[in-house]
Amino acid sequence: PSEFQGKHITVAGLGVSGVPAAKVLHARGAIVTVVNDGDDARAREQAAELEALGITVRLGDGATLPEGTELIVTAPGWQPDKPLFRAAGQAGVPVWGDVELAWRLRGPDAAPWLAVTGTNGKTTTVQMLASILRAAGLRTAAVGNIGVSLLDAVLGEERYDVLAVELSSYQLHWAPSLRAHSGAVLNLAPDHLDWHGSMEAYARDKGRIYEGNKVACVYNVADKATEDLVREADVEEGCRAVGFTLGTPGPSQLGVVDGILVDRAFVENRQKNAQELAEVSDVNPPAPHNIANALAAAALARAFGVPASAVRDGLRAFRPDAHRIAHVADIDGVAYVDDSKATNTHAAEASLAAYEPIVWIAGGLAKGATFDELVAKSAKRLRGVVLIGADRALIRDALARHAPEVPVVDLGRTDTGAMLQAVTEAKRLAQPGDTVLLAPACASMDMFTNYNQRGDAFAAAVRELDA
Ligand code: ADP
Repeated sequence: PSEFQGKHITVAGLGVSGVPAAKVLHARGAIVTVVNDGDDARAREQAAELEALGITVRLGDGATLPEGTELIVTAPGWQPDKPLFRAAGQAGVPVWGDVELAWRLRGPDAAPWLAVTGTNGKTTTVQMLASILRAAGLRTAAVGNIGVSLLDAVLGEERYDVLAVELSSYQLHWAPSLRAHSGAVLNLAPDHLDWHGSMEAYARDKGRIYEGNKVACVYNVADKATEDLVREADVEEGCRAVGFTLGTPGPSQLGVVDGILVDRAFVENRQKNAQELAEVSDVNPPAPHNIANALAAAALARAFGVPASAVRDGLRAFRPDAHRIAHVADIDGVAYVDDSKATNTHAAEASLAAYEPIVWIAGGLAKGATFDELVAKSAKRLRGVVLIGADRALIRDALARHAPEVPVVDLGRTDTGAMLQAVTEAKRLAQPGDTVLLAPACASMDMFTNYNQRGDAFAAAVRELDA
């Protein structure tokens, strides 16, 4: 009998993680009750599906802890200060997230996890990592926040040698017993602070990725907070801290020397030997932040014992997902680049650092962010700026403070059609050799369904100009 046999388990939240969790637990003999805040058509449909299996579902009541609950399995997005969790805390009921559940359900000979978190670059890094592992002939998948769900990867038919796992700060918060083979925190910038309560709490949750690591804790040399998290973590004996840097690597670090991605042994030998990992030009796109992602992926792969040649082959085979610094077209000597996925200032800063001169298309929903630092750092690269979206005044004011000489066109529009006008204005500002960069530094939902639709609108507008 499974450890869940006869156990009263409350699943918090329907949706992508709740429905499969409820089914799996029910199948293992648990007495499952699903509680859900919402009561819309989609929720009713999912509820009907679960009720047909004999699972109890309470719609429109996500706050009350069902009588007799012994364990809560929550959707990762549910905020820790919800009444349900306060009640659970008082009753001494443990709370697991989807990642914790998958971790507990994995079999005894399950594939080890190479785990990645960070404010930005997670998806890219995990996909690079999977590509490198595949180039080494390993059976693997990019899982977690992306692609295959963790539960499917752990319980499905497919056999894996190792998993490349993307973890959000929410998922880490609810994964107390996770112990990865090796883990990486790519960077730490303020994000989701309303959920975590403070920057300290956010960092603490991200740092959970290092707990119990066996071989390597990978950190960003340029982001001291990530190194601090390694120091605070309780790891297995022999587990090493491995840094990555865009400069010459120090001891136990990976870095870049003369356009070549290397590890420390390369520097010490001062010759091209097996430790040369790849060329900067093997990284797609070869922007600085993306080279950092590639180094982090390489560090995790090397910690798993993958040969240097597989790093190069895997990076060469990697193609970034759509809307992440995607080159759309060259028109009259001007490049048009879609980084619609730059939904916060930290991400936008990375893509703005990759080009010069830039005509920058920005704006959208600011989510409480401030833009002074971003604008001050990027000011000298800007040929001009075109602003769209609900919170564009915040960016306009920051530009007035830190880049008063840069021409700004404020479209004053928040309708979907504004993108064509934005691109037209950008084209007018741009000179041959410039890059027109959509890197909004904001979420898209004021104008679009999501960042995908925003990026598609940009690409469509560029094509229309080119026609
Ligand atoms: P995540 O999965 O963490 O959201 P993605 O790999 O999807 O990250 O990248 C999201 C955006 O973040 C990219 O479009 C790019 O603008 C930016 N970005 C990617 N890697 C980094 C990095 N290492 N540092 C800063 N920004 C980055």
